[in-house]
Amino acid sequence: MATYHGAKCKQCRRHGMKLFLKGQRCSTDKCAFERRAYGPGEHGNTRRRRRATEYGMQLREKQKAKRIYGILERQFRNYYTKAERESGMTGANLIRLLERRLDSVVYRMGFAPSRAAARELIVHGHFQVNGGKVDIPSYQLKAGDEIIVKEKSRSIHEIRMAVDLKAGVGTVEWLELDPKKFVGRVLELPARDQIPTPINEQLIVNFYSR
Ligand code: SF4
Repeated sequence: MATYHGAKCKQCRRHGMKLFLKGQRCSTDKCAFERRAYGPGEHGNTRRRRRATEYGMQLREKQKAKRIYGILERQFRNYYTKAERESGMTGANLIRLLERRLDSVVYRMGFAPSRAAARELIVHGHFQVNGGKVDIPSYQLKAGDEIIVKEKSRSIHEIRMAVDLKAGVGTVEWLELDPKKFVGRVLELPARDQIPTPINEQLIVNFYSR
């Protein structure tokens, strides 16, 4: 499982927004972005930043998307190629492909506090999809799929905490969640405006179309 292992909070500070990469910590006053909402590094607070070029903005948006979904360049590029082949808008297709990953859906359903935690829990075999064990974080879900936390995994502290938190706020409209039964369902594949991810996908399309 190839994933990004660099400093997560630095990424938020570099991109100038909270990317919610560290689970519960992101919603506390320990969040590094809340404390230091400026770029990382010794001169992050003082250095005058040059206006980003068009290329710089496109590159940064692509890097941001990769960090949010926790994937590396080669796999991201593969998603882009797949998105291009699908009918419709390439940018929206790309975001939808990323959202349909099992790790992303497990996170959105509230079975894990972050996508990184979801990946680890999935690899350790704590989830079933439509009754069968799936331990591949990139597994692509489709409408109607049912995700369930295995019975013996429901007492895991990290899962219980995440479910309790999510039970109070609910999930996105294209997913259904029954926190008491530790089960969720993909109601439909989302339209772009149903995906609350702060990415300007057109910049990514422009980057790869150069
Ligand atoms: Fe980003 Fe979370 Fe770190 Fe805050 S705690 S800077 S939101 S990863």
